[in-house]
Amino acid sequence: MTNKKFNTKNLHLDRSTKPEHGALHKPIHTSVAFGFEDARDLAAVFQGTKKGYAYSRQLNPTITALQNKVTRMEEGVATLAFATGMAAIAATMLSLLRAGDNIIASSFLFANTRSFLSTLEGLGITVTLVDPTESRNVEAVITPDTTIIFVETIANPVTQVADLAGIGAVCLKHNILYCVDNTLTTPYLFLPKTVSASLVINSLTKSIGGHGNALGGTITDTGLFDWSSFKNIISPNHNLETSQWGLTQIRKKGLRDMGATLGAESAHHLSIGSETLSLRLEKACSNAMAFALFCNNHPLITQTFYPGLKNHPQHVRATELFNSFGTLVSINLDDKIDCFEVLNNMTTVITSTNLGDNRTLGIPVAHTIFYELGPKQRESMGIKDSTLRFAIGIEDEQDLLNDLNQALEKAGGISND
Ligand SMILES: *Cc1c(COP(=O)(O)O)cnc(C)c1O
Repeated sequence: MTNKKFNTKNLHLDRSTKPEHGALHKPIHTSVAFGFEDARDLAAVFQGTKKGYAYSRQLNPTITALQNKVTRMEEGVATLAFATGMAAIAATMLSLLRAGDNIIASSFLFANTRSFLSTLEGLGITVTLVDPTESRNVEAVITPDTTIIFVETIANPVTQVADLAGIGAVCLKHNILYCVDNTLTTPYLFLPKTVSASLVINSLTKSIGGHGNALGGTITDTGLFDWSSFKNIISPNHNLETSQWGLTQIRKKGLRDMGATLGAESAHHLSIGSETLSLRLEKACSNAMAFALFCNNHPLITQTFYPGLKNHPQHVRATELFNSFGTLVSINLDDKIDCFEVLNNMTTVITSTNLGDNRTLGIPVAHTIFYELGPKQRESMGIKDSTLRFAIGIEDEQDLLNDLNQALEKAGGISND
């Protein structure tokens, strides 16, 4: 199986565990608990000497099947699924960090991740935010307490591309856990393992699920980090092979004890969605490129952010690292245009948060997802009051361009009637 390519592996993985009746999909197991004929087996599962399902908060066959798919896609060694992407991030941090530890993270983080880091600060963990587009910014702020370095591949909404390889080298040099949020690229566009990531986060809610009909998130261990050197592993995990220490601790602390478990029905939706990830992304990325080129040449748009554009500051890096440039395009409007009006004029693009849906969604970011940060922090992230973010879907390209064009012309007082 391992020599098969991305799509083939994904499509045939469920079958490899021979589900009942020859089912081609892993069934949706809604059972909360699992019965044992021999009570000793139940004890062995609890003691970790035997594999098996006992209680679905920790482990369920439908979830396992999805986890295996993500592991394969990321070419990692193991994956844990959670109810949402945020649950995966929170569980990982809370399981692996202690008061006094330091985390270095991108200053352009997804707003909820950034907000969660401020919660960690309240628990005695220090957070250092840096511009991750240059690895030396990261290396300059490392302290003996630095335990995790956390970055995203493409930042939202201004699409900065982190110096993923450079930061990977810094993490190796200083033996620091390197956690990469791959949501904006997905394992189809980019494998964080290739830049020495230790852990990979994916919000399955976005492109992997793809249909905007289920929430979910995962954390994948790439197998590259030596957990025996990680200072916060609690002793009950020490009897396992060191390669399992990290995810075992996240499973016990972050999943079993904190309980943000993914539901089996959601896991099924996400798994089905993942089957067409490459097809959907090919179309959405090609639409996004056309959309960005159109924006880049439009007189009422002052700036367009898309890593596929030659004028993007990290265009060369994005070309080297990614199979394509993603589905997020952001724009700044001419001062005389009202961003709300542009969205209200659109008939195909839906005013909505979320990204990675099959449908194209537009949102005025300063007034919504980045509102809580306040004007100063927004400015430092390159976000203006007129910034609109488009999460491009798989509609017919010309319909998207026509929709934006008429919406801009109407808002700019240019009438075609
Ligand atoms: C959406 C998103 C998350 C959180 O995922 P949810 O499934 O919505 O909790 C985390 N990181 C990035 C980059 C995201 O876009």
